[in-house]
Amino acid sequence: MNTCPCGLGEPYDDCCGKYHRGAEPPSAELLMRARYTAYVVGDRQFLLRTWHETTRPRALTLEEDQNWQGLTILDREGGGLFDTEGVVEFRARYVAEGRPGRMHDRSRFVKVGGAWRYLDEVS
Ligand SMILES: [Zn+2]
Repeated sequence: MNTCPCGLGEPYDDCCGKYHRGAEPPSAELLMRARYTAYVVGDRQFLLRTWHETTRPRALTLEEDQNWQGLTILDREGGGLFDTEGVVEFRARYVAEGRPGRMHDRSRFVKVGGAWRYLDEVS
């Protein structure tokens, strides 16, 4: 894989790849992008590791047939270097069973011990 699927235009290894290898994303938005990319590359361990312990599922099954097509960040609140909470609104496109679909959510992130974790969806 060359260009990172998250849309920033960097090579995967220099972008979300380094977070998948263990670095902590410095902002909620970068964690959001890295989690999207983890769905693309099928990195379940990363998704579970970056899930807040209070909302983390015991196991995670990724849809084999869901082909992610792109991520668009629509809005963000907080989630920066000096924040402890952040919300990232995004839209992700996919094709499943030959049919296009879209996911549109506002994800909430909190910082735990200096590391951003995905908490839940807010309306
Ligand atoms: Zn990336």
